[in-house]
Amino acid sequence: MHGDDKVHPSAIASKNMYTAHHSKYSTKHRSISRDMMRQAKWSIKGTDLFLIHRMIYSEGKNEAILFFYYSTGKNFTGCKKFSVSVGKLIYLSPCIKIYFSMKMYLRALILISLFAYCKAPDDTYRLEDYDSVNKMDMHVHIVTDRELFVEKAKADKFRLVNISLEYTDGWNDVFTKFRYGLQQHRKNPEVVDMVTAFAVSDWDSPSWEKNVLTWLDSCFEAGAVGVKVWKNIGMVSRDTSGNLIFIDDERFDPVFRHIQKNEKVLVGHLGEPKNCWLPLEEMTTNNDRRYYGNHPEYHMYLQPEMPTHEELISKRDRVLEKHPDLKFVGAHLGSLEYDVDELASRLDRFPNMAVDLAARMGQVFYQTASDREKVRDFFIRYQDRILYGTDLGDSGERSKEQLYESIEANWRRDWEFFVTANEMNSSLIDASFQGLQLPKEVVDKIFYQNAVRWFGLEE
Ligand SMILES: [Zn+2]
Repeated sequence: MHGDDKVHPSAIASKNMYTAHHSKYSTKHRSISRDMMRQAKWSIKGTDLFLIHRMIYSEGKNEAILFFYYSTGKNFTGCKKFSVSVGKLIYLSPCIKIYFSMKMYLRALILISLFAYCKAPDDTYRLEDYDSVNKMDMHVHIVTDRELFVEKAKADKFRLVNISLEYTDGWNDVFTKFRYGLQQHRKNPEVVDMVTAFAVSDWDSPSWEKNVLTWLDSCFEAGAVGVKVWKNIGMVSRDTSGNLIFIDDERFDPVFRHIQKNEKVLVGHLGEPKNCWLPLEEMTTNNDRRYYGNHPEYHMYLQPEMPTHEELISKRDRVLEKHPDLKFVGAHLGSLEYDVDELASRLDRFPNMAVDLAARMGQVFYQTASDREKVRDFFIRYQDRILYGTDLGDSGERSKEQLYESIEANWRRDWEFFVTANEMNSSLIDASFQGLQLPKEVVDKIFYQNAVRWFGLEE
């Protein structure tokens, strides 16, 4: 593909397109053998936009990597990286050594330009903006009457979604947890919304489906905005014959249809982080190491007879295939927390799937420590599909000081990570990492608007 003596048949047409395009925007370009850099500058609505595009082509690897660095004015505002396979590269001229399909190139250029244009250099929040920006933690567990958590949320400009679940005590759990959420909601309706749950403890009862639908109707009536299913399905709960109950069991279908018909959201914590299937010393985050150390009953590495991570995820995926119009929020990064590429492929496949960040910032930090641009690109690309949540809660046991310290430590750490480019450390992982400094509009979506939109909340 690479050499001065070969001319691809489509090169002439493409070259003309290229020249036309560049003269139109009076672009300067030069080539640096296999590592090519070009700089473009043009104005849109009076704002100067600079774009530096750089291509690294490695013969051995059969691929080229394109970097687009863009800025408005003097300040660098971001970078996008694309990989293209060598099959798409075409030869243009001795001066422009290698390029991939012009159509793809132009499309990328236009997208990046628009993207860069939407992003002013000062378009990021500062650390101190934490106090003034509206935020939402859409994954909390308040199981107490006291209002300390909600008071803290008000003071820090957070709204909350309180999530119920079936823990180890069947319907009792569901009733108790939902009642606490409802109490909190009634006292502070502008701050607290709630997601209900249902139990499978009476799975084999002929009236199970009717019980569930009746209960859900009463919760919707009371204002519940969604329904949570927890990891007990697939990992703990069994039918009377002793078989595990799985989320793709057709008996769940009428329940999911009912949730969809009522325009509510299914929140699914299905499966566990991949670390759960690894020995403690191979886990990527310190919090997982602690949790599974303390909860060997959930540590699947110790239970090889249990379903694998892949099996649980594919059962979840089957549900989304069967119910493509059901609005779904995959709790804890949809249990695909270990790899943003893996998660991206699910988000591409299921347009009605979003994910929350609850209790998985450690995995985000871990990936950021090794490839910050990749993680940052992920958050920008899926800015409409990621909801901020923490899994924080209050069971009424800790002192106010302890409670506030833990809430504050999480909320402020995550704010710093998303809005600044600070070098950071966290007890969740051993390496240091740099904040993502996402644009304001992305921060606003992740920290607030996505939850409003996904759950249909009042603004
Ligand atoms: Zn949770």
